[in-house]
Amino acid sequence: MRAWEHPDVPEVSGVGSRPRVHDTATGSPVDPTDGGERATMYVCGITPYDATHLGHAATYLAFDTLNRAWRDAGLDVEYVQNTTDVDDPLLERAAATGVDWRELAASQIALFRRDMEALRVLPPDEYVAVTDEVERIGEAVAFLLESGHGYRVPTEGADGDDVYFDVQRATDAWSLGAESGLARDTMLALSAERGGDPDRPGKRDPLDPLLWRAARPGEPTWDTAVGTGRPGWHIECSVIAGDRLGAPVSVQGGGSDLVFPHHEMSAGHTAALAHAPLARAYVHTGMIAYQGTKISKSLGNLVTVRGLLDDGADPRVVRLALLSHRYSDDWEWFDSELTSATTRLASWDAWARGVDLEDRGDADTSVAVASMARIRERVADDLDTPGAVAAVDTAIAAGGTCTGELVALVDAVLGIRIGRH
Ligand code: ZN
Repeated sequence: MRAWEHPDVPEVSGVGSRPRVHDTATGSPVDPTDGGERATMYVCGITPYDATHLGHAATYLAFDTLNRAWRDAGLDVEYVQNTTDVDDPLLERAAATGVDWRELAASQIALFRRDMEALRVLPPDEYVAVTDEVERIGEAVAFLLESGHGYRVPTEGADGDDVYFDVQRATDAWSLGAESGLARDTMLALSAERGGDPDRPGKRDPLDPLLWRAARPGEPTWDTAVGTGRPGWHIECSVIAGDRLGAPVSVQGGGSDLVFPHHEMSAGHTAALAHAPLARAYVHTGMIAYQGTKISKSLGNLVTVRGLLDDGADPRVVRLALLSHRYSDDWEWFDSELTSATTRLASWDAWARGVDLEDRGDADTSVAVASMARIRERVADDLDTPGAVAAVDTAIAAGGTCTGELVALVDAVLGIRIGRH
């Protein structure tokens, strides 16, 4: 599937350090590459049934920063993102609004692309719709049934049986709880909250996740090797990441609400399919609150990228406001974020005004050189974008002269083009 337009990324002199990122599974900062020149990243995409809110935008920006930092460090990056364009929330929304589910998905994916382009997020090399991969996922589920990692649960009213994953069997390269570090009680609660069905009769373990949902009347279905129906949520990411990038990927990324069950179960599926870990590092972004609670479609306190832009915000300001927070923190959005980011960007633009990105013959000043080193150092330290932003502020406060190289680095690594507006 088409991703979105690739923003310009200027060449910059010098090389950044290889970034270290916080790995949820070990609780430590790691270089998630294998030490070679290739870095691979799989980030869980949206379920396209509602507008991109700031929490989503912050997540994709965090992994955009990692993508940019890897490239600045001279690595070849391969990046894959999926979109869960068939799933219960999407089908429920389509039914509630009387819109065809395919039209709803297509319209929301189009809006997501527009938001990503406005924020100058580098597109994935492959943007994969789950509906294009169902046949392949069906094969993987059939394989898991055969290997004994999956089992059928008789399902009344369906054409065939639902298939579940046996969490106790998949101990090759994986054990339940190793990634999330959660206690079983917490896992049970989160499973119920986040799309699982711990109370479903007939399962071997209440935590066993759905691999395949047999066809029900009125639901979209596909004929595959495992039967007629549609995929469970976690297996789609295992299959797409494994097929496109090979396991283990350097980084499996998403919001912290995906730690359990989604990423943990995806890793379990990959262990059973490929006898390999899904990722070298599991990287998670914090949750953003607004008006005292987590931004959520269901709670109705949405702050959307589109809403901010329609109200006249410069997309660079939205980007800068989000980069001014540490990606892994939970934090609260206040309307004043835009005011302070606007002020900051105006000072950056004024500083860089007249600096020509195409003409790098300008004298490097010690302040600019130090600032560039500091930006690279901060971003390599678990994507410390607030530290990188502060490095620009510090250079301005020190009265240093801006240079074309510095403008290019701010553009290449932070994704913000300054000075020529
Ligand atoms: Zn996923």
